[in-house]
Amino acid sequence: MIDFNKLKNILLENNSFLLTTHVNPDADAIGSEIALYEILKSSGKKEIYIINTSSTPYNLDFLDKEKIIRQYDKNKHSEIIKSADVLIGLDFNRSDRLTRMREDFLNSQKLKIIIDHHQDAEDFVNHSFVDPEYSSTGHIIYDFIKKTSITELTYSIAYPLYAAIMTDTGSFRFERTTPEIHFIAAELISKGVNPTEVYDKIYDQSRFSKIKLLGRAIETLQLYGKKQQISYMIIKQEDFQSLKAHEHDTDTFVNFNLSIEGVTIGLLFIELKEGFKVSLRSKGNIPVNKLAGEFGGGGHINAAGIRIHNGKMEDYIPVILKKSEEYSERN
Ligand code: 5GP
Ligand code: MN
Repeated sequence: MIDFNKLKNILLENNSFLLTTHVNPDADAIGSEIALYEILKSSGKKEIYIINTSSTPYNLDFLDKEKIIRQYDKNKHSEIIKSADVLIGLDFNRSDRLTRMREDFLNSQKLKIIIDHHQDAEDFVNHSFVDPEYSSTGHIIYDFIKKTSITELTYSIAYPLYAAIMTDTGSFRFERTTPEIHFIAAELISKGVNPTEVYDKIYDQSRFSKIKLLGRAIETLQLYGKKQQISYMIIKQEDFQSLKAHEHDTDTFVNFNLSIEGVTIGLLFIELKEGFKVSLRSKGNIPVNKLAGEFGGGGHINAAGIRIHNGKMEDYIPVILKKSEEYSERN
């Protein structure tokens, strides 16, 4: 159980705040930051910064109406990070998810907290407000408002929360799509959020290069395992370069693996400028977070990721496929 009153006290008792989220942020990450920013603003707080290690993906930029999110620059932002009364990490609970910003975050002598819904939290903050039972970090923030009445649920808060919850539930189809989440969505819509508009902005305004990249990825689809129950795709640096596409363009690609009959684990291997990342998805009770954990990654039971900074993707692919087969047979 999250101690929401404690969180409320921390927010009300302090004056300056630094909000941040994980590398390659999604709508739950950005939406939760903006919602918390709005809560703090309506509580009379004046010094609120949002600084992220990655830039905001272009399809989520509309959530940042005031353009207050800054991309981390060590020279410019170390002082702010050092002097803020409270550092708040949203939608992650392992410090390596901060990549370049990790050191400044950890070095702060001020209060550090995490608000998150992932499993296997690392102990690197003063207070963790973490519960993996939640569909999204946005859902936690919604409950925080409801349970503490810290502020009214206004349109400006409902809007980013709707984006956060919609995307982290896979547009209301993943396992945590409960009656409760539909009631919450209904309430957010009743505050004026237009669900058609939010969906359209996030998913249906893709750059041409993204859809072309999807084509390249689909072209590489392969099945693996005795029952052909593993499906995977590979994207190389040359694909990004020749199409002028970006890592965050790949966000939803991994899901196509699971739309194949009989497939229970889907993998997407993405070559980065340095190292590579893997997105893992599963059906049923195959814990891809544990599978990812074997390679230093993590996430949720059905959605997880691995990021390896120094290592060759080609060397890891057969090893990760083999492990995936083991996991798919064990569960
Ligand atoms: P995605 O495949 O969409 O990047 O990530 C899926 C899930 O796994 C997300 O919930 C994300 O937070 C988590 N995840 C992705 N990459 C990593 C990683 O490198 N380390 C950890 N601990 N979690 C990750
Ligand atoms: Mn999330």
